[in-house]
Amino acid sequence: MIINDIDQAVTTLASGRLCAIPTETVYGLAANALDESAVLRVFMAKDRPKDHPLIVHVATVQDAGNWIAELPQWAIDLTAAVWPGPLTIVGTRTALASDLVTGGQGTVAVRVPSHPIAQELLSKLKIQGVQGLVAPSANRFGHVSPTSAAHVFADLGEYLSANGDLILDGGDCQVGLESTIVLATGPEPVILRPGAITLADVERITGVAVAAISTDAPRVSGSLESHYSPIAKVVLIETGSTIEFGTTAGFLALAQIPTPAGLVRLGSPATIADFAHELYGCLRAGDDLYLETIYVVPPVGQGLAQAINDRLQRAAF
Ligand code: AMP
Ligand code: MG
Repeated sequence: MIINDIDQAVTTLASGRLCAIPTETVYGLAANALDESAVLRVFMAKDRPKDHPLIVHVATVQDAGNWIAELPQWAIDLTAAVWPGPLTIVGTRTALASDLVTGGQGTVAVRVPSHPIAQELLSKLKIQGVQGLVAPSANRFGHVSPTSAAHVFADLGEYLSANGDLILDGGDCQVGLESTIVLATGPEPVILRPGAITLADVERITGVAVAAISTDAPRVSGSLESHYSPIAKVVLIETGSTIEFGTTAGFLALAQIPTPAGLVRLGSPATIADFAHELYGCLRAGDDLYLETIYVVPPVGQGLAQAINDRLQRAAF
């Protein structure tokens, strides 16, 4: 059920079954993007509403051209600089992208992941005629995204085992937050979901000012007001704030911030990057301890801190 053999994952995916796969952002529940019944099963396994479009994962920048019809020059520059990496581009779709994948929209979301296992998998699948994988986060819809094979198993193990699907173990995900999503249908970039590729990165690479950060755009699943939620209630607090709490509360903050008396420390990330890397594992650990509440001091700042705050606000909603 949890495997380490990439070739076994290739065979499974090429034969129309599902396989959860590691990427540098989070684990994705992958299926052949051109196999309608396999893609349908991804929605079923996650209990994901069908109007939430999926991201197509491909091996190379050139392969992305099979799915996206045209891109403005700034987006070509951006993909050339960042791919493979934690960036998703939403562009005008080609005929390859089905309504099921795009949610019936005229645009399609595409990403070239950098994780070496994902890269090897996609290259080998291409040889077998599989031109892309859909791979939404491998968790139940609305729950915390998985950053390890064990997280995937906790959410979807029962469903996957019962259906002959697999989980490919590639260790912990390096970034730990979902990809930055950039809409590339106009003269300026629009950020639909903040991530490890920051607004400053986009502007520096493209030389074009970002038109908007539009995280409330409909149909971006990560854009629902409540998402990424553990069972425990997530409460965001400031450093040094006095809080009333029971005996079953957890605490997550940067390492230099001391633990308020009585709270169970769930993590002590030394840097903002560590915070992103550890965040989802800490939220899941709180549930494993049956904590009622998890208090979090969000990191302050732009860039990756902004992406962490985006996820924390939805987890706390
Ligand atoms: P997930 O794979 O669950 O992290 O989510 C993929 C995200 O990409 C979803 O939030 C989608 O809504 C977003 N996405 C995919 N296709 C499109 C599209 N055509 N337009 C806007 N957002 C999209
Ligand atoms: Mg998700």
